[in-house]
Amino acid sequence: MARPLPSPGFGRIATVFVLSNRASRVYKARMALLVKNGEIVTASERYVADIFCADETITRIERNIPPPPGAEVIDAAGKYVFPGFIDPHVHIYLPCMCTFAKDTHGTASQAALVGGTTTLIEMLGPDRTQEPMAGFELWLGKAEGHCACDFSFHMTVSRCDETAESQLVEIVKRGVSSFKIYLAYPGAFGLTDQELYRALRLARKLGVITTAHCENADLIAELQQQLLAAGKTGPEWHHASRPPIVEAEGVHHLMTFAELAGAHVYIVHLSCEEGLRAAAAGKTRGVKVWLETLIQYLLLDKTYAERPDFEGAKYVMSPPLRDRRNQDILWNGLRDGVISTLASDHAPFDFATQKRMGESDFTKIPSGIPSLEDRVNAFYTYGVKRGRLDLHRFVDAASTQAAKLFGLYPRKGTIQPGSDADLVVYDPDYRGTLSVKTQRMNVDYNPFEGMAIEGRPHIVTVRGQIAVRDGKFVGEAGRGCFLQREPSHF
Ligand SMILES: [Zn+2]
Repeated sequence: MARPLPSPGFGRIATVFVLSNRASRVYKARMALLVKNGEIVTASERYVADIFCADETITRIERNIPPPPGAEVIDAAGKYVFPGFIDPHVHIYLPCMCTFAKDTHGTASQAALVGGTTTLIEMLGPDRTQEPMAGFELWLGKAEGHCACDFSFHMTVSRCDETAESQLVEIVKRGVSSFKIYLAYPGAFGLTDQELYRALRLARKLGVITTAHCENADLIAELQQQLLAAGKTGPEWHHASRPPIVEAEGVHHLMTFAELAGAHVYIVHLSCEEGLRAAAAGKTRGVKVWLETLIQYLLLDKTYAERPDFEGAKYVMSPPLRDRRNQDILWNGLRDGVISTLASDHAPFDFATQKRMGESDFTKIPSGIPSLEDRVNAFYTYGVKRGRLDLHRFVDAASTQAAKLFGLYPRKGTIQPGSDADLVVYDPDYRGTLSVKTQRMNVDYNPFEGMAIEGRPHIVTVRGQIAVRDGKFVGEAGRGCFLQREPSHF
């Protein structure tokens, strides 16, 4: 069944969902679960009640539900109960510059769960030389049976000719109802303008939303060459090779093509005011555009990438960390719903070996940071606890909006009878520190090292089964299922 999308920036429309799946037939939650006396917080509601879960779903929400025999009971008094969080932008299996991102689906999904994320959407990324269907099978094979949380994919369109298009149609039928396109990375993932237009037309025809990396590839290539020729080879020059205006040009470019094609688009990892203004200009003209930003843009700035002794390489990502002045603008965008979602763009590369591939040339530093595990706790601490946004927008940006935009709502993204029993019983009294020493992500540094957090998940459930207790994964490796999603009607 087709589903409507939320209106850009402010939507709270209920949608119809679809379910899969092979995996859930294999692994059923073993016993009923009763979560008692927690303060339930969704994108729109807040109240104290008990939640009863059976057969992987929430079946009752009432006060004073007596525990049935055999049910597992969780005392949630004094704690929040949030819907499982959704990370709509994650890389796990990621070939990059002759190496691979460090996490496996096992390590990444367990790190996600410890941090409260119960569903992730991974970028499924075959390059131009690979066939889309072979890419789909490859990524699905890597994830199925290994992912501990539920998962889906955005399908990268790295080539758009007739062969690719016919395979993309089949992939959408198999439950991947969103595309990813890159304006950057020509030759590998980047599309020509002709292909971009074709991909967006196809997306519109299929009712698929297109997520987009917006940076002008030719400008980046030219600026990189200028910098390297001037002997500017360290990670501190990464920002100068991809300044805000290069991102804004990419956003403007996408707005033009989306307007012409009548396509629905979602800008991933928006990092700066200039990009936001270009998107707002498109929205004003009627372009159907939604925005995502990342936890690292809210908490880190470009001085991190300027740290001496190559330490800055830990903070090389694209678009780059920006000047601090952008942080308030992004926080305000999230608070007001102008920016719909908060993601991680998790892409972990070891500092000791992989980041060092770019020691004499910053363009050879693998781009990305580990952030999947810490997204929710950092967002809660520096957003809700610091008064930058309320609990409802916190849940909305970190869970509900992604569910609505990508066809998972109300199966995911909220707490109501019939929804999957993905719950985060959150302890607001917890005090801790983010560190590589305690993280589950399989990488040798933490970009938020030493940052305090004021709250973390006490219990995390995936379809009614407890996966995390007080920071420890206690779930079942490989229990996550592939969430098939239907297209929208545009
Ligand atoms: Zn990404």
